[in-house]
Amino acid sequence: HKYVYDFSEGNKDLKDLLGGKGANLAEMTNLGLPVPPGFTITTEACQAYLTTGREPDGLAGQIEKHLESLERAMGKRLGDPQDPLLVSVRSGAKFSMPGMMETVLNVGLNDQSVVGLSAQAGGNDRFAWDSYRRLIQMFGKTVCEVPGEEFEHALDEAKNAKGTSNDLDLDADDLRGLVDAYKKIFVKHTGREFPQQPREQLDLAIRAVFESWNAERAVLYRRQERIPADLGTAVNVVSMVFGNLGPDSGTGVAFTRDPGSGAQGIYGDYLANAQGEDVVAGIRNTVPLQELEQLDKSSYDELLSIMARLEEHYKDLCDIEFTIERGKLWMLQTRVGKRTAAAAFVIAGQLVDEGLIDLDEALHRVNGAQLAQLMFPRFQLDHEFQPVAKGIGASPGAASGTVVFTSARAVELAAEGKSVILVRRETNPDDLNGMIAAKGILTSRGGKTSHAAVVARGMGKTCVSGADEIDVNVPAKRFTVAGQTVNEGDVVSIDGTTGKVYLGEVPVMPSEVVQYFEGSLDPEHIDNALVRAVHRIMTHADGKRRLAVRTNADTGADAARARRFGAEGIGLCRTEHMFLGERRELVERLILARAEGEREAALAALLPLQRADFEEIFREMDGLPVTVRLIDPPLHEFLPPLEQLAVNVAVAQERGEDVAKEEALLAAVRRMHEENPMLGLRGVRLGLVIPGLFAMQVRAIAEAAVSCARGGGVARPEIMVPLVGAVQELETVRAEAEKIIAEVVGDSGVEVLIGTMIEVPRAALTAGQIAEAAEFFSFGTNDLTQMGWGFSRDDVEGAFFWRYLELGIFGISPFESIDRDGVGRLVRIAAEEGRAARPGLKLGVCGEHGGDPDSVHFFHEVGLDYVSCSPFRVPVARLEAGRAVV
Ligand code: ADP
Ligand code: MG
Ligand code: MG
Repeated sequence: HKYVYDFSEGNKDLKDLLGGKGANLAEMTNLGLPVPPGFTITTEACQAYLTTGREPDGLAGQIEKHLESLERAMGKRLGDPQDPLLVSVRSGAKFSMPGMMETVLNVGLNDQSVVGLSAQAGGNDRFAWDSYRRLIQMFGKTVCEVPGEEFEHALDEAKNAKGTSNDLDLDADDLRGLVDAYKKIFVKHTGREFPQQPREQLDLAIRAVFESWNAERAVLYRRQERIPADLGTAVNVVSMVFGNLGPDSGTGVAFTRDPGSGAQGIYGDYLANAQGEDVVAGIRNTVPLQELEQLDKSSYDELLSIMARLEEHYKDLCDIEFTIERGKLWMLQTRVGKRTAAAAFVIAGQLVDEGLIDLDEALHRVNGAQLAQLMFPRFQLDHEFQPVAKGIGASPGAASGTVVFTSARAVELAAEGKSVILVRRETNPDDLNGMIAAKGILTSRGGKTSHAAVVARGMGKTCVSGADEIDVNVPAKRFTVAGQTVNEGDVVSIDGTTGKVYLGEVPVMPSEVVQYFEGSLDPEHIDNALVRAVHRIMTHADGKRRLAVRTNADTGADAARARRFGAEGIGLCRTEHMFLGERRELVERLILARAEGEREAALAALLPLQRADFEEIFREMDGLPVTVRLIDPPLHEFLPPLEQLAVNVAVAQERGEDVAKEEALLAAVRRMHEENPMLGLRGVRLGLVIPGLFAMQVRAIAEAAVSCARGGGVARPEIMVPLVGAVQELETVRAEAEKIIAEVVGDSGVEVLIGTMIEVPRAALTAGQIAEAAEFFSFGTNDLTQMGWGFSRDDVEGAFFWRYLELGIFGISPFESIDRDGVGRLVRIAAEEGRAARPGLKLGVCGEHGGDPDSVHFFHEVGLDYVSCSPFRVPVARLEAGRAVV
């Protein structure tokens, strides 16, 4: 079995096997770009190691072979005392997990080869000992779990002894002393000497990279990002090139476009005389990439031309790691770069303009989750708010919250339901829990490529990084800025788009993209790259999609907004909201009615109110279908809670008041109490048990439609019966409804459809029968999930879903995204059998899933006619319905 690939053997499409980093190093090698030679150990080797606890047979031999040919190619031997080959050992999974796993640089250095390295570098002792101390530090920390702070501490002491805060001021002797100190730390924590055998260093480092796949923070990150747990990481062994050889060397990162806004230009950070992680870690302040032009024009020009080449090759934004060794440029990494939601749209639009991709591909490159982010509200800054600091807009959004300084405190306050802003000098992987809990992240150091920025962007969480006017004092739980002190518990607001920081809570307003959807920004006439790109891609999605998109709306105002957002009808108009407020009284009268006359009177009083509700909705949805669901929840939900009533009655009795009515109500509440209300007297069952209730609703709908038609409008009501499990239930309701409709509609030309929800598993399984009595089905996937799994939705999510997610029983809550295999199968069966019984049966979905990107793709595949979702999700569903086609 082949476990090791030379860079020349791979390519960018082998990410499953070689990981992203390895596949792209191979791709760059084959493009003829300057990549230091090396090889990649496959993810399969890692998987084998993780399942059996040892390296698979044959791996050691293959590594040996590839190492030998690497040594031949470089003309050096690993760790050779005179002229050592050094390598880096780098993790690299299929999906990038920034800073989550381990890398060890300078493998192959020991007490002898450090001398050879210096000699080879022209007697550059400082460089050799700096490289050696880095190896012990990285190796100790990542391979042998020596606490990193101990090394940091020793480094700080060396700097203090020298009276400096800059690591460049340490000379060769200082660094030699530091190596001794590091070795002692190593012995203290591991009980053994730092390994001097180069091959042993290599093997241990490779094993550590394998194991880093299951490091706690990597596990947590994968869960958050929904990356499967069993992929494993590849390991890249790369010959070292040195950015720490002197001022003519250095290391940097770059993007081919701005990953924040998508704007074209030169974006990156460069650090002279430094190695690897120094740039990201913020050890010293980097300079903007443009300044490299002054420092080393020829490397700079070569870098720009390579960047252009990569963009053209990948046809997308790339990010890059590079190192310059004495004027020679080396490419150490590239990948299609992460970007903000806004940049995703803008870049897709630009690439279409440049002829690199077509509009179908542009539609692929964006997604509904990104669009949803662009619909977040923004700060409204027309009042007294002045920023107190400005950092880098690292991840967009507008977040206000209570300031906290530690991950633990962030988790604590978030659990109490508070919005928190996590403020740190810079974040590191140990802050991950706090970052997840926080509403926003503010750091005083680090750029667009810092840990905070990269991770926050990945999570879609607002982040301002590198706000260096802010002086953070974590132990004292405060920061100072512009002469003011902000303590833990104070409120700040951060704008992840502009990078601005405000004290206090800034009010918010709709985003530009929402203003565009609302119709108040005209994409043809404003100079806004984002709005134009969104418009263009949405238009393309609308042209492509087969699924119609409707909305869930109970009021005229919601209906009107959804229509502006592109809704093509109402897929779910709930009527229970119409029984709240002052109308509760009427519902009580209905429930308490003893004689038929009393009940009829209560219903008669409700009728005109309902009719007016429907008239308003039909007016807003003129010409479009409106699915009205007959009353669904158990009626006792409209009555006061038992305890409260009991107290009221007792108090009133005490005072000697007349409590006849309250007592009757109390008795009714007792009588109607249900152990499992979700499985009780609700939905169609109410219609069958309470005479006149559904009839009143049907009449109100039909009368409203007729009145709309008389006024010159077109109402297209679709009456939907909830919770049907047997065709007989539907037939009974239908017979009564048809009579009323015929009587009301007369010759007005109004057409009323009657259909049902499919939300009880039995309905899905007898859909062929039910279709005989239904002109449409609407899948109520909330209840279908609840009853399909037997999960009480209101109880389970907080109670134990975390455990289910942890165990991988499902990767995402089935209430959030449709469970394709189980609940989805019910949908599929019902769709097929329903359509077989009644060709042309209209099929839609009205659960929360209608606005969930992945579920939209599923409903497209199953062949539904439309999805229905809340007004704000309508654009997301339109986009995803288009993406499902291309
Ligand atoms: P990460 O995935 O966390 O970015 P990398 O494997 O890319 O980790 O390595 C960390 C740092 O070390 C990067 O800056 C990278 O460019 C640098 N680096 C890795 N391998 C080499 C090498 N062979 N020579 C010089 N620098 C290297
Ligand atoms: Mg990297
Ligand atoms: Mg339901």
